[in-house]
Amino acid sequence: SDDCRLDLIKSLVRAFPDFPKKGIIFRDICPILKSPEALSAVISLFEQHVREKFQKVDLVVGLDARGFLFGPLLAQRLGVGFVLVRKKGKLPGATVSVAYDLEYGKAEAEIQEDAVSPGQKVILIDDLLATGGTLYAACALMQQQRAEVLGCLVVMELKDLNGADKLKPHHVHSLLQY
Ligand code: AMP
Repeated sequence: SDDCRLDLIKSLVRAFPDFPKKGIIFRDICPILKSPEALSAVISLFEQHVREKFQKVDLVVGLDARGFLFGPLLAQRLGVGFVLVRKKGKLPGATVSVAYDLEYGKAEAEIQEDAVSPGQKVILIDDLLATGGTLYAACALMQQQRAEVLGCLVVMELKDLNGADKLKPHHVHSLLQY
């Protein structure tokens, strides 16, 4: 059942207080990846949600870096392609980027110019939703390229930070909430 799968996944998320800096509780998904049952549960729950919620998906778009761990597996299950949103300067060829604010300083999210086409229906995926700044930037990139954002998927959502509000009207689905 869903509950059983969620319990397994939850049992394999480790919390590291004060990493990478004081005051942050880092949620580590490495033990999920190390368990074939848990990883398969994550992908199955995502797949189930997408199939129930959306008629047609053209692409899965993964966020640097842990979105790359789940995105291609989900894309394969759905029978669609996978696209990378990377931190600036990592992708060759013509690219488009958007700047966004981090807690301290700024960052830029970038895709290859030919990664998505106008009208394509995309699902964004990452490991964790905190303030929503990262997914917001990725959504902006998609819209700049005139792709249609169907929604965002994350393994975990930090509710207190209200990231889902920042992403409105885009739909957000999380497997676990903290
Ligand atoms: P945000 O843009 O604030 O929603 O932050 C989300 C991004 O930062 C994701 O790519 C996460 O992997 C990472 N991140 C933020 N907070 C945490 C945390 N407490 N534990 C693990 N990763 C985090």
